[in-house]
Amino acid sequence: MSKPWKIETNAVQAGYQPANGAPRVVPICQSTTYKYDDAQSVADLFDLKAPGHMYSRISNPTVEAFENKMAALEGGVAAVAASSGQTANTIAIMNCCPAGGHVLAAAGLYGGTVNLFRFTLRKMGVDVTFVEPSASAAEIKANVRPNTRAIFAETLANPALTVLDFEKFSKIASELELPLIIDNTFPSPFLCRPFEHGANIVTHSSTKYIDGHATSVGGVVIDGGNFDWTNGKFPEFTEPDVTYHGLVYTRDFKEAPFATKLRVQWIRDLGSYMSPMNAFLSNKGLETLHLRMERHSQNALRLAEFLNQHEKVSWVRYPGLPHDAEHERAEKYLPEGCSGVLCFGVKGGAEEGETVMNKLELAAIVVHVADVRTCVLHPASMTHRQLNAAEQEAAGVPPDLIRVSVGIENIDDIIADFDQALNSI
Ligand SMILES: *Cc1c(COP(=O)(O)O)cnc(C)c1O
Repeated sequence: MSKPWKIETNAVQAGYQPANGAPRVVPICQSTTYKYDDAQSVADLFDLKAPGHMYSRISNPTVEAFENKMAALEGGVAAVAASSGQTANTIAIMNCCPAGGHVLAAAGLYGGTVNLFRFTLRKMGVDVTFVEPSASAAEIKANVRPNTRAIFAETLANPALTVLDFEKFSKIASELELPLIIDNTFPSPFLCRPFEHGANIVTHSSTKYIDGHATSVGGVVIDGGNFDWTNGKFPEFTEPDVTYHGLVYTRDFKEAPFATKLRVQWIRDLGSYMSPMNAFLSNKGLETLHLRMERHSQNALRLAEFLNQHEKVSWVRYPGLPHDAEHERAEKYLPEGCSGVLCFGVKGGAEEGETVMNKLELAAIVVHVADVRTCVLHPASMTHRQLNAAEQEAAGVPPDLIRVSVGIENIDDIIADFDQALNSI
């Protein structure tokens, strides 16, 4: 589907080419079911011999348009949309690492992912080992087990804001013949395309910048089509699937075996597909992705610079700041901008930080990031409160950390709001 367009054009137009007289805008196909002329057509769909839709738990034309656009934006071969980012990460892992398997994950992940990896995946028979993203290749490889089946990391960790060393992690993954799964939620495909840096699978919480307006929870998994599933470690890809009369994914779906298997096994059986309405809204969000990401990044850098010189602020974390520990990697992997999230600490500590949050007027306290409105959150008492103090520290969440998701309002208004709140203490 994807044409050799540039990313801005793909954001606006990819994924849906209306036929003569068809609606210009992707229609919301609010139908669970589809009608056929004869029984054979349905049998062929069930056997995966013919493309088409049979039931909206597995595929739907509106969701498909969104999936096609996401695949084009990331430069992958196929995408599968899910009901949330949590689902996207869960099924991306289970698809290549079933019960009995083990995953290596770069520490500093989103709090929801940490819980998923430490507790819920374990209940499903999958063990996860966290490695320090700054560890050497040898230290990381020392954690590999015979049953390791994937390496997982975030491009820009939430909220630690570490920028992944793609070169190191992709080299380790390819040496070990393991897929590198990257959660690319924070940069969005406009600021970083992990397949260009050696990733094999990309996931997103589309709830964040993809939707961009805080209307729809959703997730998406994109297949890079660049991993050899026949290397002996992934029998589910190379051996017959009895639920489809012995079909073999790497033989029968050569172009996108990962995405195909993900949809026809995991989405089919768990029923965690995206709804047509959410796909419509997420797709609408994508139409302005390039404009929003540019402005989010510009505004975040301006606010970071302002906070950095404010006398009431003890520290600021934003990879776009020249003194930031992550700046060099940010220049390499996020040359167009470092996205809209920054963190800072108020002099005094958590209590003073809370006062500042309460005094903000334009910036609201919201358990969310990455929409057009500026918002703030205190991870230690909110998103990461299920972790103990040591775990919070390990996740890059000191007690005084305030996370700001900088919106696309006028930057002078945003800065004035933080200035008055800080000066109130
Ligand atoms: C929010 C988020 C998720 C979880 O996504 P939901 O859509 O809330 O389920 C996963 N990864 C990252 C990096 C996130 O920010």
